[in-house]
Amino acid sequence: MKKDTTIVTAGRHPDDHHGIVNPPVYHASTILYPTVAALEEAARTPFDGVRYGRRGTPTTFALEEAMTALEGGYRSIAMPSGLSAITTSLLAFLKAGDHLLMVDSAYDPTRRFCERMLSGFGVETTYYDPLIGAGIAALMRPDTKVVFMESPGSLTFEVQDVPAIAAAAHAGGAVAILDNTWATPLFFKPFDHGVDVSLHGATKYIVGHADAMLGIITTTEDAFLPVKRTTAVVGTTVAPDDCYLGLRGLRTLGVRLARHQETALTLARWLAARPEVDTVLHPALEGCPGHDLWKRDFSGSSGLFGVVLKDYGKDAVTAMLDGMELFAMGYSWGGYESLILPTYPANHRSATTWSAPGPSLRIHAGLEDPDDLIADLEKGFERLNA
Ligand SMILES: *Cc1c(COP(=O)(O)O)cnc(C)c1O
Repeated sequence: MKKDTTIVTAGRHPDDHHGIVNPPVYHASTILYPTVAALEEAARTPFDGVRYGRRGTPTTFALEEAMTALEGGYRSIAMPSGLSAITTSLLAFLKAGDHLLMVDSAYDPTRRFCERMLSGFGVETTYYDPLIGAGIAALMRPDTKVVFMESPGSLTFEVQDVPAIAAAAHAGGAVAILDNTWATPLFFKPFDHGVDVSLHGATKYIVGHADAMLGIITTTEDAFLPVKRTTAVVGTTVAPDDCYLGLRGLRTLGVRLARHQETALTLARWLAARPEVDTVLHPALEGCPGHDLWKRDFSGSSGLFGVVLKDYGKDAVTAMLDGMELFAMGYSWGGYESLILPTYPANHRSATTWSAPGPSLRIHAGLEDPDDLIADLEKGFERLNA
């Protein structure tokens, strides 16, 4: 089946629900068992079927089944946020005395978890250059248990050599975890590239409408039980309404992403030609670090990218951003609306230095008409230059 068909059909069982197209929202805490034998059977298979509300309901399982069909892998686990998907995946494979290799361009809250939690638990983190590729083998230690990737990187969009890094991780006995949020399951297939655990801030493109928090972890068969047991022990659970919103968003992911992709490329090319712009950081553009890897491994690009301006001062950038009409400022991304933010990549690095001639912006290309978005940016540049 082609992926656009999988998006529409995966995880749907209308015959189980009176023919209703979308899996209904099942709210539950207590599940009733008719016999002691049924109780005992449930205890033997805690991760299969409806067991207790915290373990999920058919709404949760529909989302998990659909994500597995799209992402590949063995099984998926719905999580209350993308960050919880990250932290729980790390906790699943790390204990006191272990070593973690973390990409230097990671989503900042991922770094914060390493610095504020893992360090206190006796886990040592070494940050590595996102462009290190197979060279990561030199950083592997006998106690390295996890190599964490995020490709492209947050804010700076370096594309990583995921197969080479995953191979080096496996050679050293470590698990390869990937934050695949930017590419979505449509544009990068983690399990074809050696990843053991792939996760998403599903809040972004999977929910797709800026109205729910959601995470997803998908794993190989070997990695499933360690992660699933960790979620069960820690007590993570997702409200069925949010799983429903994730599933509803997922059904239109293909058409939305095609448009996000096209508009982002239009804006990125327009920006690259502007005199105010030093560099556009978009994996599909020549000159973006790792662009050749993007061409080799990805089948598309989403709507989020970076822009480095020439040497403008803070007041000029503030005037530009405060006056935007369509590009609003706000965290998160992946909804239907366009967003813009000032970013400070140099503050979130330790293994590499980020030097740029001017301030950086992050742009999310929404579903508005690109001509209107360009007009908004054009007026923004007038304020920047004023
Ligand atoms: C937003 C984001 C997350 C976290 O997702 P939440 O649902 O907001 O917790 C993780 N990784 C990346 C790359 C993100 O951009």
